[in-house]
Amino acid sequence: MAEFDFDLFVIGAGSGGVRAGRMAAAMGVRVAIAEDRYLGGTCVNVGCVPKKLYVYASHYGDDFAQARGFGWQAEKPAFRWETLRDNKRQEIERLNGIYRNMLVNSGCTLIDGRARILDDHTVAVGDKRYSAQRILVATGGWPFVPQIEGREHITTSNEVFDLETFPERVVVVGGGYIAVEFAGIFAGLGAKTHQIYRGELFLRGFDQEVREFVAEEMRKKDVDLRFNTDVQRIDKAGDGSLRVELKNGEVLAADCVLYATGRVPNVTNLGLESVAVHQRDNGAIIVNEDFQTSAPSVYALGDVTDRVQLTPVALAEGMALVRNLYDGKAEKVDYDLIPTAVFCQPNIGTVGLTEEQARERYADIDVYSSSFRALKHTLSGSDERTLMKMIVDSATDRVLGVHMVGGDAGEIIQGIAIAMKAGATKAVFDSTIGIHPTAAEEFVTMR
Ligand code: FAD
Ligand code: NDP
Repeated sequence: MAEFDFDLFVIGAGSGGVRAGRMAAAMGVRVAIAEDRYLGGTCVNVGCVPKKLYVYASHYGDDFAQARGFGWQAEKPAFRWETLRDNKRQEIERLNGIYRNMLVNSGCTLIDGRARILDDHTVAVGDKRYSAQRILVATGGWPFVPQIEGREHITTSNEVFDLETFPERVVVVGGGYIAVEFAGIFAGLGAKTHQIYRGELFLRGFDQEVREFVAEEMRKKDVDLRFNTDVQRIDKAGDGSLRVELKNGEVLAADCVLYATGRVPNVTNLGLESVAVHQRDNGAIIVNEDFQTSAPSVYALGDVTDRVQLTPVALAEGMALVRNLYDGKAEKVDYDLIPTAVFCQPNIGTVGLTEEQARERYADIDVYSSSFRALKHTLSGSDERTLMKMIVDSATDRVLGVHMVGGDAGEIIQGIAIAMKAGATKAVFDSTIGIHPTAAEEFVTMR
């Protein structure tokens, strides 16, 4: 009889947990996976997937208006939030079902409920206890909301997709990925949208020129950007609407106040105190490069380790862990040159160093930057512009960073990231023949 009920007990069926659990089970490892909310985790239920669907939805307003320049006569049709929300729900339910089948078919034992670690080899779910040779914590993150007066009136990304009615006036607080994406979504769907950011300019950490360019483009799309201020308090008026008082004394009326002020590791009531797992001040589980915590039988990956909070990173970590533990590999995840997209409008696509980072690290760099009106907008009537930027090490000609703000930037940057991983120099970009007429061809004609 085996010493443990399972070889691997995964806590959390999100991006990282599902990938690790499925892969391990397919290799014959006895895997249990516990999930207490929704299969597929944040990405599938309240993250990447519904977010991208809502981004698509929000583009139609502009598309209908722009179609007129191409000869289409139709008036702008009305938007119905309930249809979008309910269709989204249906699609997510379908995906939940696919995840359930995938896990069960791969041989995982799926346990519905909240898991709590009891000791180095024991996990409890409800009143049941399970022993496992190894425990993998893949519990993700949770929205962080600062202490403000009227906090009970706010909405987070956990609830925003399922609002009962469409908010005609929205205040988005924060200046990161989620805030700019949702400011774009609500503005595109027709809400009067304000975005409040405490600093000088939002999207800290991105290339400065990209940040300025995005701010300009978002203003053109009627997002009221307010920097250098924050929310003082939120009150509910008699008619149910919200009164948002800013630190600069201004007051905004809103039907929804979306707080997108970062995410914290989801470690509440996880029982980490019963094992010797070291954590950072914000609760993030500290792991070595093999995802092992300071308790040797406990592993962690994905957002709960608060390193790079992206689905493809959690997937890569899950795969590396399983190959190392169960397939005799010594694989490390390469965190260099992770491409990323922000689905604000227009999109940001970025990989590698910003101009500011490159100037700090390299003696001499060449910067190529080009801003133009995409061909589509010569007839669409839109004044949207596209920015493309490339940063090159002058000494070696190696491309250090590529950034784009414009339609399909996320799609375009994926291919550029492959070239950069392969060590492409500017000369390689220059010797590549463009695809005409596209925006992407600009990357091979920058001089
Ligand atoms: P999660 O996917 O969060 O999964 C953790 C799971 O663990 C959850 O299902 C949770 O219910 C479960 N759980 C927690 N505690 C317990 C417990 N004690 N017992 C049982 N189960 C438990 N990333 C991108 O790459 N692209 C995007 O476009 C993108 N958009 C995003 C948009 C939003 C609004 C948000 C919030 C995030 C977005 N992300 C995006 C980030 C991405 O969703 C996360 O990086 C990714 O989901 C992390 O995966 P994970 O496996 O670490 O955790
Ligand atoms: P981010 O960390 O990207 O941004 C948080 C924002 O909130 C920052 O602008 C920060 O300001 C601000 N903030 C933090 N604390 C406070 C506070 N106390 N008061 C006021 N403002 C505050 O977090 P998000 O929540 O937007 O997203 C979480 C992560 O999820 C992202 O970092 C990303 O990894 C992932 N994600 C990825 C997406 C994608 O790939 N397209 C989409 C959405 C999320 P400051 O800069 O001044 O600190």
